[in-house]
Amino acid sequence: MSELSRTPAHAAPIIDPFGRHVSYLRVSVTDRCDFRCVYCMSEHMTFLPKKELLTLEELDRVCTAFVRKGVRKLRITGGEPLVRKNVMWLFKSLGRLLDEGTLDELTLTTNGSLLHRYADDLYACGVRRINVSLDTLSPTKFKQVTRWGDLENVMNGMAAAERAGLKIKVNAVALKGVNDEEIDDLIRFAHGRGADLTLIETMPMGDIEGDRTDQYLPLSEVRSELAERWTLKDIPYSSGGPARYVEIAETGGRLGFITPMTHNFCESCNRVRLTCTGTLFMCLGQDDAADLRQTLRAYSDDAALEAAIDEAITRKPKGHDFVIDRKSQAPAVARHMSVTGG
Ligand code: SAM
Ligand code: SF4
Repeated sequence: MSELSRTPAHAAPIIDPFGRHVSYLRVSVTDRCDFRCVYCMSEHMTFLPKKELLTLEELDRVCTAFVRKGVRKLRITGGEPLVRKNVMWLFKSLGRLLDEGTLDELTLTTNGSLLHRYADDLYACGVRRINVSLDTLSPTKFKQVTRWGDLENVMNGMAAAERAGLKIKVNAVALKGVNDEEIDDLIRFAHGRGADLTLIETMPMGDIEGDRTDQYLPLSEVRSELAERWTLKDIPYSSGGPARYVEIAETGGRLGFITPMTHNFCESCNRVRLTCTGTLFMCLGQDDAADLRQTLRAYSDDAALEAAIDEAITRKPKGHDFVIDRKSQAPAVARHMSVTGG
């Protein structure tokens, strides 16, 4: 059955002005994090006061409204989603949508630091696949990239996730001078444990106290270099996100490329993003947004909330305008990735 034909009968499906069906919501549950990755945050971040955040009950209400309107996939992200106090309550509550059959997938993107604590609970809530961000296998570089992270802890978290039955996808941001020499090792590492690996181009989001041109590594270059050593075969596989996949003959594993800079993937965009304050961004790379918190708090029934969602979708833009070069030093959007949720 197509996603459209499975939209609940009483709700109009979410179709944007360009005919794209919005079936995927990413939800940032906190802007806080226990790491300070160099491409994501500056070392000294000012975080939102707690009172600005949607409560877990409010997050549940918005997610449920989106699912009523035909969203089939929810990704919980952040900041680091697992640092949000009592976040398992939200996973448990959203898990009921999986049981009802109105949601296909509940998943999360995590830096892995707290997986050793929460892996079993996540599985019990119905989570089956998770994305773990891991840019390097060197403990020293890991410390340099994440500033505050500990590689061994993340490795233990991944092992706990696998023991719990969670399928892992490893995400790595391609960083010039940091992990460009390590991509082969990352492929062997991920594929060796049955995980997909996805490489991501760094995007110009938020001030990071540094020059992004120093970090930016076009994946078109990486792919050409990989093709000299590995047999890459394009495959039509999709995990529901923007990655384009190849299969590597030597490992039998999948390698994804997320290329917002060298190949804009907006034409097939099926998602919108909710921040932890209830702001809905219709595009990761544009500033236009809708304040759902105001509607949520002003009306106790969900009709106004659903109308606000419909109105917001009429403003979903055709695409983003990311550029990284020496002339364009300012970020394309002022907010950090940790605000909108990656
Ligand atoms: N803290 C969790 C994590 O790191 O997986 C979830 C949130 S994080 C913002 C989500 C993803 O966005 C991570 O894979 C991270 O590497 C990526 N990311 C952060 N800033 C980015 C940027 N400027 N360009 C590209 N990817 C970025
Ligand atoms: Fe934290 Fe994830 Fe951003 Fe790293 S990428 S600072 S782990 S939110």
